[in-house]
Amino acid sequence: MPASILIVEDEPSILELLSANARHAGFYPMEAPDVPAARTLLSEVLPDLIVLDWMLPGISGIAFLRELRTDSRTKDVPVIMVTARADEDDSISGLEAGADDYVTKPFSPKELMARVKAVLRRLPPDLESSSVTVDGLTLDPATRRVYTTRDGTEQRLHLGPTEFRLLHFFMTRPERVHSRRLVLEQVWGTDVPVVERTVDVHVKRLRDALKPAGYDTFIETVRGSGYRLSRIATARHLKSAA
Ligand code: CA
Repeated sequence: MPASILIVEDEPSILELLSANARHAGFYPMEAPDVPAARTLLSEVLPDLIVLDWMLPGISGIAFLRELRTDSRTKDVPVIMVTARADEDDSISGLEAGADDYVTKPFSPKELMARVKAVLRRLPPDLESSSVTVDGLTLDPATRRVYTTRDGTEQRLHLGPTEFRLLHFFMTRPERVHSRRLVLEQVWGTDVPVVERTVDVHVKRLRDALKPAGYDTFIETVRGSGYRLSRIATARHLKSAA
């Protein structure tokens, strides 16, 4: 079954162009010219990915993105933001609002499709790979679940697709220090240019997602070097939380 993509774009010619390109790339496109239309479509079908224009009439793309991220049904659907502003800070605030990637207008439909494929490729991380447990935290790629079992009660943690893949990367390589560049190559892939600050934004989101179970210190910042999953820091943290 082809992956379905919801494209939310108010400019009819761009919407048509993106839709045609998505179809050509083997996807099943759904079109919405504004947020209310997108909401209606989403109430019927949950797409595999959403391409969302930032500047929309009425409700902005960024406001809609926040809405999507607070709804349990849509919060894990990857979103690529389309922004007219080349300002890096704008792109970063899109990521902070929960976008998985972004493209800046003007962009080629080919570039957007490359990013769509890259985002879809990184979820789920690896269906064939077995589940991994570190310090009582389990990540299961087959069921896309992250959970911890303490006192016989399972506590499930909710991670976005990029955070899931990021955690998988760290959990399968504990204690080693990874540079931002390496994390980008391994988690995002080399075919898509992404700024290194993107890693920081997603690490922050990962920590927030791990916090309810006390694992927010799991991923340690190593000054001037990058990040590592630190077992010792976690053990200390869990002990002090108990
Ligand atoms: Ca627009």
